[in-house]
Amino acid sequence: MMAEKNRWQIIGQGLAGTCLAWHLWWRGAPFVIMDRGQGGSSRVAAGLINPITGKNFEPSWQLAPWYAEAMAFYQKIEETLGRKFWHPLPILRLAADEKEWLKILSKSKLEQVQPWIAGSQPAAGDWHHAMLIRGGGWLAVADFLNASKTFFQNAECFQLADHKQSNSRTIWCDGAAGLMTSRYGRHRCAKGEILTIRAVADESHIRVGGGGWMIPIGAGEFRVGSTYEWDVLDENPSAEGIIKLQKTAERLLGRATYEVVGHDAGIRPILRRSMPLLGEMPDGSWMLNALGSKGSLYAPGAAARLAACLCDGTLPDDEVNIARYLQLHD
Ligand SMILES: Cc1cc2nc3c(=O)[nH]c(=O)nc-3n(C[C@H](O)[C@H](O)[C@H](O)COP(=O)(O)OP(=O)(O)OC[C@H]3O[C@@H](n4cnc5c(N)ncnc54)[C@H](O)[C@@H]3O)c2cc1C
Repeated sequence: MMAEKNRWQIIGQGLAGTCLAWHLWWRGAPFVIMDRGQGGSSRVAAGLINPITGKNFEPSWQLAPWYAEAMAFYQKIEETLGRKFWHPLPILRLAADEKEWLKILSKSKLEQVQPWIAGSQPAAGDWHHAMLIRGGGWLAVADFLNASKTFFQNAECFQLADHKQSNSRTIWCDGAAGLMTSRYGRHRCAKGEILTIRAVADESHIRVGGGGWMIPIGAGEFRVGSTYEWDVLDENPSAEGIIKLQKTAERLLGRATYEVVGHDAGIRPILRRSMPLLGEMPDGSWMLNALGSKGSLYAPGAAARLAACLCDGTLPDDEVNIARYLQLHD
């Protein structure tokens, strides 16, 4: 192994730091990944990838190339670790009323949306109609992080440490904790809460509607999410959170009864919507952050781009370049 001073120091073992560690590993670049072993958004995330999202039924930013990179990355990880982390499942996008349905229907005909549409169908219960989306699924994020940590521990590339110093080998992948230091100026981080429930319900697809979602994760369990809160940024599950999430569960489940088996909270790292930022900082350190609500989709591609900067000396595209972002938001 190269001398310690030449190793990259990745700070944070969430989705950002873990994906970067894998890219450096594949390139044979020496690194150590340090994590303080508590908190973080990835540990609670549901890992959902929904190609066509939101009230406006729109494709995620630069969906096609980043989606392809994410799928190839998770497949390579599964081959390396001999375990399954990506669980493809169709997404049933439910419309509450005719107005919402007509909007979904018209958006579904757009050229960039059409490849992701598998067809429409009547919806059960109080829902008006439903659109089936292809390409969806969920990443078992905590399993992926834990298995990667074990791999890097065995390779002597992991340390439990709360790291504070910055130098030209430091790569900040410290999520919302990093954004809240104001290192990158004003942030828009959002607390999110999520439930794990047990229910007897259809496990053949992910249900999305009414501003919430419900993901079958096997053995009769589902993850239900998630809330957005901008004023109180802590990682504690709240009484208001569980009330909101139970309403979402009841809406998406229809008449099925359920039992709550878990309730978690985290803080999404947001600077400007869910578009990653990466590259070199003015002090010579490096960063990968701002994955927002879409870490599972964007972390693999963002990490690949940063690894190319670190190992090949390439510059990131303007849209994701932190140096450019800082110039524009000075
Ligand atoms: C409730 C909820 C549900 C979500 N659901 C989804 C979803 O379904 N799909 C999706 O794509 N995204 C989802 N997200 C968003 C997703 O969690 C984030 O995009 C992603 O996890 C961010 O990863 P990260 O590595 O940047 O940050 P983090 O996961 O927060 O990782 C940062 C790591 O750095 C460590 N750290 C911080 N400071 C230091 C330090 N000084 N020294 C050492 N270690 C440090 C932390 O302990 C942490 O482990 C959800 C988020 C929440 C809150």
